Amino acid sequence: MGASGDEDHDGDRPASRPVEREVTAMDIDGFRGRLITADHADYDTARAVWNGAVDRRPRLIARCDGTADVVAAVRFARDHDLEIAVRGGGHNVAGTAVCDDGIVIDLSAMRAATVDPAGRTAQVQGGALWGDVDHATQAHGLATTGGIVGHTGVAGLTLGGGLGFLMRGHGLTIDNLLAAKVVTPDGSVVRASADEHPDLFWALRGGGGNFGVVTTFRFALHPVGPTVMAGPVFWAADDTTAVLRFYRDFVAEAPDELGTVIRLGTVPPLPVIPEELHWRPAVAVACCHAGPVEAGERVLRPLRRFGTPLVDLLAPTPYAAFQGGLDDTVRHGWHYYWKSTSLAGLSDAAISVIADHAYGAGSPRSYSALFHMGGAVARVPHDATAYAGRDVAYNIVIDAVWLRDESDEHAAAGTAWTRRFLRALGPHRGDGVYVNFLDSDDDTSRVHEAYGDETYRRLAEVKAKYDPDNAFHHNKNIHPG
Ligand code: FAD
Repeated sequence: MGASGDEDHDGDRPASRPVEREVTAMDIDGFRGRLITADHADYDTARAVWNGAVDRRPRLIARCDGTADVVAAVRFARDHDLEIAVRGGGHNVAGTAVCDDGIVIDLSAMRAATVDPAGRTAQVQGGALWGDVDHATQAHGLATTGGIVGHTGVAGLTLGGGLGFLMRGHGLTIDNLLAAKVVTPDGSVVRASADEHPDLFWALRGGGGNFGVVTTFRFALHPVGPTVMAGPVFWAADDTTAVLRFYRDFVAEAPDELGTVIRLGTVPPLPVIPEELHWRPAVAVACCHAGPVEAGERVLRPLRRFGTPLVDLLAPTPYAAFQGGLDDTVRHGWHYYWKSTSLAGLSDAAISVIADHAYGAGSPRSYSALFHMGGAVARVPHDATAYAGRDVAYNIVIDAVWLRDESDEHAAAGTAWTRRFLRALGPHRGDGVYVNFLDSDDDTSRVHEAYGDETYRRLAEVKAKYDPDNAFHHNKNIHPG
């Protein structure tokens, strides 16, 4: 993992033409943001992404203040044949938000989220985080499907599909996307929606950052909370088989208002959890019932009564606070390596593989998360968007985590665990993999698998129209077809 930065290249591009001398913001025509180069005091902070194992050294970081700056940066990059990386929240585990030796078009200063409560829509800038969106929308008792960690970026998550606790009721994030303002690879600004550039709008909803830089998203919102019945329930790891079997039958009957994610690992050392439980191997079911609290209490009662939970944190909770509840368990700067697949279901045999492997990481911070899909996600026609996993029952992401000071051995053991676990799940895999859960290295070849033949072919056509030179290739790359 880490420093090469060029694993997603199409192999045919010429090397970057050198910028003749050090540039300053003044040199980029029309650029008013901040330009950060290697000699700048903020360079190391500005090039760091969520995954501390990623260590890339761009030539320039163009921290944009708005769409005009993005246009200027894209044109500058194209004029100089610079390698381009685009940064939203900087959360992608593969670290594609930063490149070696090229330019980072950095939207991290563009985090505004503006709500139209009457129209139930939100206008969100391309560098916003989900915590920004939940904060702004919940002031009006509204929300849209967003990631389960508040410091995840809106842009990358949305462009890959967008899984979250609200998805079974309200669809994926892309199912709530109404329009996007896009700076295309030739530096034009276009609006993509059902009526404007519909081919681009289709591709943006699942096809990732392949088609340009999105500077603004417009989302549909729904009444949610502000108080919802939400929280995790933890059981001891020894109970995993029984808990997962019960859970499988419980969610099969549950209403679409209930979103759940299973977390297998250890009890995180959060202040709300008794200290004697911290770091104990455990399976948790994190729940969010997005309907009335009394209905949520009723729906969740059987789950809470199952077996002997170690700790039950389900309670009427402000939705925005619940969404930020996991933030500290996946900190910026720790080192991560992921593997992922969809699962056809939770058969007894699949559960047995999960119970056998989930606790073998050798690091207390490592974990796996199992997202329960279905509901409104599955009711959107397959060809309506470029997200290919409409029929998937579960997505599992296996996350090895280690600290900067921990040895290479630790990294190797964690990485080997993710691969072993994925291999063991082989017979239980569903179709494809969620593109946003792919890492770099041996995952690069899995982009096609994420989409399947027909969706990939269509994406390649749209890519050929909007980015024929594959200028935006530092991503989960679709080759122009
Ligand atoms: P970045 O790392 O900034 O960017 C990743 C790529 O997205 C870039 O290489 C670029 O190609 C593209 N991109 C970014 N910004 C733009 C833009 N403005 N315009 C065009 N392209 C852009 N996913 C879910 O669906 N649901 C979850 O609940 C969820 N939870 C997560 C929790 C954690 C802790 C982490 C690390 C990830 C999680 N993810 C989840 C995965 C997440 O969707 C991806 O990591 C996603 O890439 C994050 O978006 P970002 O903007 O932070 O990415």
